[in-house]
Amino acid sequence: MQDERGRFLGQACVSLQSKITLRRITRSEQPVDASFFRQRIAEAAGLRRAMYPGESTWRAVHGDGDGLPGLVVDRYGDCLSVQFLTPAMDQRRDLLLPLLVEQFACKGIMNRSDAGVRALEGLTQEKGLLWGAVPDPVVIREGQLELGVSLEHGQKTGSFLDQRENHVVAGRYARGRVLDCFSYIGGFALQMARKAERVTAVDSSEPACDQIRANAARNGITNIDVLAANAFDFLRAEFDAMRRYDTIVLDPPAFAKNKDATAAGLRGYKEINLRAMQLLSPGGYLITSSCSHHVDEAAFETMLQAAAADAGREVQIIEKRGAGRDHPVLLALRETRYLKCYILRVV
Ligand code: SAH
Repeated sequence: MQDERGRFLGQACVSLQSKITLRRITRSEQPVDASFFRQRIAEAAGLRRAMYPGESTWRAVHGDGDGLPGLVVDRYGDCLSVQFLTPAMDQRRDLLLPLLVEQFACKGIMNRSDAGVRALEGLTQEKGLLWGAVPDPVVIREGQLELGVSLEHGQKTGSFLDQRENHVVAGRYARGRVLDCFSYIGGFALQMARKAERVTAVDSSEPACDQIRANAARNGITNIDVLAANAFDFLRAEFDAMRRYDTIVLDPPAFAKNKDATAAGLRGYKEINLRAMQLLSPGGYLITSSCSHHVDEAAFETMLQAAAADAGREVQIIEKRGAGRDHPVLLALRETRYLKCYILRVV
């Protein structure tokens, strides 16, 4: 890559069918070969090992954030779940695979290149075992809990590692009656159950609900009710029934998947946040997230403000959090900061 004056800018991965034609991979002229990738993967892994001593579940490679655009590697103990999201990475599978096995001494690697974004790069959806053997479920540790995760059948790479640190933090805020909407395999709900009187977990996916139940049993947690339902309908019904909660978690899927969907997405976010604020008892906590790239922090806060105004509640911001530290954000590429997780107190 050169600028208009012919100065060298670095080397980039090319994706001709994508809106993002070039993704810079290095500022230098060094060859982008096996030893280059070995070094980048080692650097990314070293960062996590230093940050999470004694832990073995983290996002090992976070695409651009780790100087490896298009490559996502989630480490679940001694198994990996991998996404090749650009043609450049897709074409280099055979080169990358032994480097991953070498770096993580893993027993199995699952390919979860069934992400929708591959279509934007002209790539098809693919998933399946790439190497070795991967048990189903893989059991990981989160705080004091053990969680079963299916790398093959689960959503994304098996779980949402970006919320892992927030699950544990949410556990500290939990009290009284807790509601976890969009709970997937129970990352928030189960962490909170240990401090709560009773937890209700709501997810529209039956397999996800089965996983929550299995994970509750695995940890001897009995104060949880798991409901397969649409969270929008559930929240409305709870409001109509004038029920009250002391702690609520909202962690929906991305409602604004592209720029055109931003306005509709924000309406969706506002609806669930408004309902949650109405349902909270005075002094209750709302732990609310958005993983939409196209809803930035300012838009998210404006939406929350409008929801609070409609709910007629005073709301304090207690913490502004994001994805875990294993999802580094590039200062020069702030689009890599997609997850907002706010801890609010509804006065
Ligand atoms: N909170 C989870 C991740 C949630 S991902 C964690 O921290 O691990 C979003 C979840 O919302 C998915 O499990 C999906 O099945 C669920 N979902 C999507 N649309 C929904 C809806 N309308 N009502 C309830 N759940 C929904």
